[in-house]
Amino acid sequence: MTRQYDDLLARAQSTLEKTAHKSTQNRLEIPEPQVLWVGNKTILRNYAEYPKLMRRDPDRLLMYLAKELATAASLDADRAIFIGRKDKASFTQLFTRYMIDNVTCPVCGSPDTHIVTESRLHFRVCEACGARSSARVN
Ligand SMILES: [Zn+2]
Repeated sequence: MTRQYDDLLARAQSTLEKTAHKSTQNRLEIPEPQVLWVGNKTILRNYAEYPKLMRRDPDRLLMYLAKELATAASLDADRAIFIGRKDKASFTQLFTRYMIDNVTCPVCGSPDTHIVTESRLHFRVCEACGARSSARVN
């Protein structure tokens, strides 16, 4: 009886460790924004990395950033150009928030999700655990 319990405990422990390990591996690192100021414009030189990493539409993500920064933005190949001087920290903050609201699965922490739209409501569907959660897509 005791031995069975120990086995069970050991098995649970190892499953727990595996799960913890998996979620750390899956977590997305947000790249450091490469910001350049030219006149009154802010150029985010590595913009293309973000939608690619999050597997989201580049235009939609840019719209989100422009809205949150209360400015106009445009795409120029891999770069994004914003009117006004924006600092690196604001981009990091916005990308982090976007990840939490739209990308990362709140159930298992996996960033492998995609958006489905039903009756004008957006959901992110997790490809790792199958969970469906709300998404705030603008
Ligand atoms: Zn999940």
